[in-house]
Amino acid sequence: MLRLDSVSQSYGEHHVLHKVSLTVPDGQLLCVVGPSGCGKSTLLRTIAGLLPAREGTVAVDGTPVTGVPERLAVVFQDYGRSLLPWLTVRDNVALPLRRQGPRRAERHERAEHILARVGLNGSARHHPWQLSGGMQQRVAIARALVVRPSLLLMDEPFGSLDAQAREDLEDLLLDVHRDDGTTIVFVTHDIDESVYVGDRVVVLSPGPGSRIALDLPVDLPPRRDQITTRALPEFVTLRAKVGRAVRTPRRG
Ligand code: ADP
Ligand code: MG
Repeated sequence: MLRLDSVSQSYGEHHVLHKVSLTVPDGQLLCVVGPSGCGKSTLLRTIAGLLPAREGTVAVDGTPVTGVPERLAVVFQDYGRSLLPWLTVRDNVALPLRRQGPRRAERHERAEHILARVGLNGSARHHPWQLSGGMQQRVAIARALVVRPSLLLMDEPFGSLDAQAREDLEDLLLDVHRDDGTTIVFVTHDIDESVYVGDRVVVLSPGPGSRIALDLPVDLPPRRDQITTRALPEFVTLRAKVGRAVRTPRRG
């Protein structure tokens, strides 16, 4: 379980997050939405232990986060820069296992297993630059999954992909989440995407000093599909609620 208790964050004098409290139960896929610059990435960096909270506490399974938690994985938007161009796809995916200590053969085996899962069986020996953007982001996701994370943080991971690749990866994410039950915090500025992939959507208000403007459970059927789910009246209602919260101007 991930728990934020009255977390405030700032860069120097610039106040970004104001007393954000949030509990994410194990296995939840939480989407965080909000206008550009409201502090979504700052929130993820704080959860990841990369940026100590100015005030308040972040705890994973009851233990306060003081550094990067164990079995945490992060996927960023910028897949191009997060992969090492001189390594093969398989070696990129196996890289985080080096710290964990399994032998080379086992590292390769686990990497290939995960690559098959994200639909990249045929690309293990290629280099990242030989792949499309969508495939590169699959490699980044595979690299995050190879450590069997208990907490997965994703910062606008599909933001720079074309519509088709984006939908495919949303569905891949839903499959992985259903199979592994990993707790996921997924940041996006795309309202439709947040409702489509989330079990719950939290909207941050515009900064400075962002707070939680809306905390909405998404009770759509867990089996989702791009055509049917997005056409459900419940989907349309939820999307409107999130949209309204994102567009509400700051009070005062
Ligand atoms: P989002 O991810 O929602 O677009 P960020 O968390 O990146 O927002 O940024 C929140 C605010 O903090 C913005 O006003 C941004 O300009 C500022 N900011 C982000 N990173 C830094 C930094 N390293 N130093 C100073 N200000 C920053
Ligand atoms: Mg950001």
